[in-house]
Amino acid sequence: MSRKSLGLMTAFGLSSFSVVFANPAVGGGPVRAARTLTLNQMTVEGAPSWLTEARTQRVVERIESKLEWDIRKIRVIFYRDRESFLKEFGVKDAAISAFARKKDMSVHMGPGVDSNDFDGVFGHELSHVISYQKYKEAIPQWLEEGLANLVSRNGKPNYSWLAQQSALPVVKQMGHPFQAVSQGKGSPDSVRLHYEASHALAELLKTKCGLHDLLQLSTGSSVEKYIATLCGIRDIDAALRDWVSRKSQSGKEVKNVTSP
Ligand SMILES: [Zn+2]
Repeated sequence: MSRKSLGLMTAFGLSSFSVVFANPAVGGGPVRAARTLTLNQMTVEGAPSWLTEARTQRVVERIESKLEWDIRKIRVIFYRDRESFLKEFGVKDAAISAFARKKDMSVHMGPGVDSNDFDGVFGHELSHVISYQKYKEAIPQWLEEGLANLVSRNGKPNYSWLAQQSALPVVKQMGHPFQAVSQGKGSPDSVRLHYEASHALAELLKTKCGLHDLLQLSTGSSVEKYIATLCGIRDIDAALRDWVSRKSQSGKEVKNVTSP
């Protein structure tokens, strides 16, 4: 995927297509059966040769322990060609590398996911699965992507880029990042803005109130209910602006100190 930071999207409520594997027959011989890994929590269909059950299990256990949840039976599917992967997502083109789907508790891994980025990308999608299975409606859409990046240790928010934007999104109006794009309304930059802002919000909440406590309280309810009482944040938009401004400034200071 050309833009890794944008490659971690989740599809909600997209229509389901039947999964078609491109099983190339070798030399006109019989089509080889796709390799399937079987874990207690999931089956991994079409697994690439570099992926083992032990490695998959390690990522699963790391995310399960962070979010305190045992994942219930899901399907993970690897795609060999981008066209069938995007068709499953429901769009013709999108800068995504994987997605999780709530409706049938499935995770879809695009052909661009390789051994180098598997742990981060897969961990991000598993965070979405736990959102669906454990937290249900408790995690607002504006936090979902940022939380997934935070718990999967998938990069850092780019605070200096955020600080340069003419405006930050209105937090509680941040819908699903792909809804606007799939309807032809959003631009790739608006998707990036969503991901960066959501990631910044997750770090802000982690610092101000401890995400663990916030998520525990919010289970069965909503994170938004507790932000004022637990985190002392009355105005989430003002808090985000202030946080981005301070983090981008402190980033500059570090650069000044370390570069001659
Ligand atoms: Zn995502």
